[in-house]
Amino acid sequence: MADHYAILGVSQQASDAEIKKAYRQLARQYHPDQNPDDPEAEAQFKQIANAYEVLGDSERRSRYDRFGDDGLGGQGGGSGAGPFGANLGDIFETFFGGGGSPFGGGGRPSGPPRGEDLETVLEIDLSEAVFGGEQLVTVRTAVACEPCGTTGAEPGTGTSVCDECGGSGQVQRVRQSILGQMVTATQCPTCSGQGKKIDQPCSVCRGQGRQIEDVDYTVDVPAGVDSGSTLRLTGRGAAGPRGGAQGDLYVHISVRDHELFVRDGDDLLLRQPIGFAQAALGTELQIPTLEEPETLLVPAGTDSGRRFRLRHMGVPHVNGRGRGDLVVELIVATPTNLTEEEELLLRQFAELRAEHVAPSDPGFFGKVKSAFR
Ligand SMILES: [Zn+2]
Ligand SMILES: [Zn+2]
Repeated sequence: MADHYAILGVSQQASDAEIKKAYRQLARQYHPDQNPDDPEAEAQFKQIANAYEVLGDSERRSRYDRFGDDGLGGQGGGSGAGPFGANLGDIFETFFGGGGSPFGGGGRPSGPPRGEDLETVLEIDLSEAVFGGEQLVTVRTAVACEPCGTTGAEPGTGTSVCDECGGSGQVQRVRQSILGQMVTATQCPTCSGQGKKIDQPCSVCRGQGRQIEDVDYTVDVPAGVDSGSTLRLTGRGAAGPRGGAQGDLYVHISVRDHELFVRDGDDLLLRQPIGFAQAALGTELQIPTLEEPETLLVPAGTDSGRRFRLRHMGVPHVNGRGRGDLVVELIVATPTNLTEEEELLLRQFAELRAEHVAPSDPGFFGKVKSAFR
């Protein structure tokens, strides 16, 4: 069981603020963007994120204190991560200072809006889908504008209280209804609920607090995905304007066709040609798989189309244990381009079996053709 307190380096009595502070420091240190191509840092980062997901939420923390990880059963992925991918939403909310409650009324600024969700298609080979692993995707996205520190204000200039809402971030609208006058509070359109007005917009982002850029993300592809699978990367979408939290990134998987194997659910189908003498007399075949070749014993008298199952050589079940099978369909190949000796032997064979065959006269097929004219 993971000791979330030890991972964050805080005591069990730590205050919420201490936990948050420890988490921020560690998350910055081990953030994948700071440690490209460092799987250890990434693993550490995930542990840290996981620990904070528990300890950063008072209800989950108290359950964890009482029951350990077991107390969190069924409640995992509180912020809605799918079965795949890292759940990084909280990290970005913390970094970019979003997370203002959408229900935080009482005249408090509601905070900058969250960034857009993005989607992209990741094309992978069959073996990459079968075994999973890390893949790189490049997405055109919005990232925090660094010159202005996401404020949207030109460096050196400040902000002043929004005229329209007087700093509350909300405006009151009065309208007449059959029940009389109704007053509703909505987000201030001038400052987008921030309560502040920029005196001079940042020249880099033109006051948006974010910029468009191509960003590379590492995607953990789980073993067994197929075309049509979608991975959700929480908090890897576009950065919101003026420090708003990042949206999510949806990665749609598309698996390229393989030259040998056709996928059928979690089974792989291989059509394996075999000589007709081999099929008649039996043989031992080396069967290609996505791993090491496997030996298949073909019994004498095997018909074309007969299927053999190589157990557990197929695709791992993405949502469970075990793997599908590799189904080998043997296709008996008719010999062609016979040498004189081969043809002679085949004719003798046919004679022994009393099978009627076409004569060797090269004019024969010409005659057949003219007969059907
Ligand atoms: Zn305003
Ligand atoms: Zn800017």
